[in-house]
Amino acid sequence: MAVIKSVEEKYMKEALKQAKKAYALGEVPIGCVIVHEGKIIGRGYNRRNTDKNTLAHAEITAINKASKVIGDWRLEECTLYVTLEPCQMCAGAIVQARIPEVVMGCMNPKAGCAGSILNILEMPQFNHQVKVTRGILEAECSQMLKTFFEELRIRNKQEKEARKSLSSLS
Ligand SMILES: [Zn+2]
Repeated sequence: MAVIKSVEEKYMKEALKQAKKAYALGEVPIGCVIVHEGKIIGRGYNRRNTDKNTLAHAEITAINKASKVIGDWRLEECTLYVTLEPCQMCAGAIVQARIPEVVMGCMNPKAGCAGSILNILEMPQFNHQVKVTRGILEAECSQMLKTFFEELRIRNKQEKEARKSLSSLS
């Protein structure tokens, strides 16, 4: 077993465990945990296709669960760990929930809103700014996504070829 180097890595590993659940469902593997006083109080993973729900992102699910545990919409003493840079919806929810700190794995240059396209978490114009740490277990987080999309491409190709050979029979 690998030696756990820091608190950040310890909880990012937990977020990766959540991402694996999404992977098992054939969903883009993204996972999230929310930590309060050294305890995980919210977990979530991407279930957008499974639930047929735009809101079923890892972070939103984790925020929902954490709010139930805390009994408040404000998550003021929590840290959110997520394997991939949040989208505009999730970054917005993080600011709305007043989460003070976010730790992320890899960046998402095509859709990320915590430094890539926008940086909703650190906008000085908003009434709340988030302390952001990037690149924790970055290689593991991005490798899981890469493997997922490679497998998806192979699956799509195989299905296409299967359809082609079926139609050539008829
Ligand atoms: Zn999102």
